[in-house]
Amino acid sequence: TTEPRQVAPTPGRLTVLAGPTAVGKGTIAAYVRTYFPGVWFSVSMTTRPPRPGEVDGVHYHFVDDREFDRLAEAGQFLEYAVVHGAAKYGTPRGPVERAIREGRDALLEIDLQGARQVRDTWPDALFVFLAPPSWEELVRRLVGRGTEGEAERERRLDTARAELAAQSEFDRVIVNDDVRRASEELVSLMRSGRAER
Ligand code: 5GP
Repeated sequence: TTEPRQVAPTPGRLTVLAGPTAVGKGTIAAYVRTYFPGVWFSVSMTTRPPRPGEVDGVHYHFVDDREFDRLAEAGQFLEYAVVHGAAKYGTPRGPVERAIREGRDALLEIDLQGARQVRDTWPDALFVFLAPPSWEELVRRLVGRGTEGEAERERRLDTARAELAAQSEFDRVIVNDDVRRASEELVSLMRSGRAER
């Protein structure tokens, strides 16, 4: 009998999902988590406080500013950025590299600044932009969610305007007109990218 040879799995595919505030990235992520358990999700680190219902280690790793800066200096982030002029957010590098090496398809849900950093260091990732059906609909969703005050909302809309202008930098644009449809389009893009290689 011959010894079974240790064969490294085909590496997985990294997909980066970005899009403006309130476009529904979180809802899409929740849908994909539930219905496509084969997709591996990066858990970001952030210095913002948890919102009601958010669980440390599941939605984010919540850390203080000092710890975040220490990890950044040690090169532990694949990318990081200050988002909406407030808190810091970053993608821990190790878990992503491990997931890809183990052959899993990995998804990062990050902002535009982060997506640009990943493009520079991981150019063969798939870059997907999630767009609202219209500007009016985006404003309606942001107001409807009611998690930000007026001033913060204005600030997020300013950022959103600039982000929408950057969609041409992405490989694909998905319009979030319906959570289920958009989620299925995302997963099918992640999979077709894999088959193409
Ligand atoms: P929220 O505070 O509403 O959960 O997220 C605010 C913004 O931060 C969202 O646009 C989200 O995509 C972005 N974000 C979340 N995690 C990361 C990350 O690890 N890196 C970057 N650059 N942005 C992130």
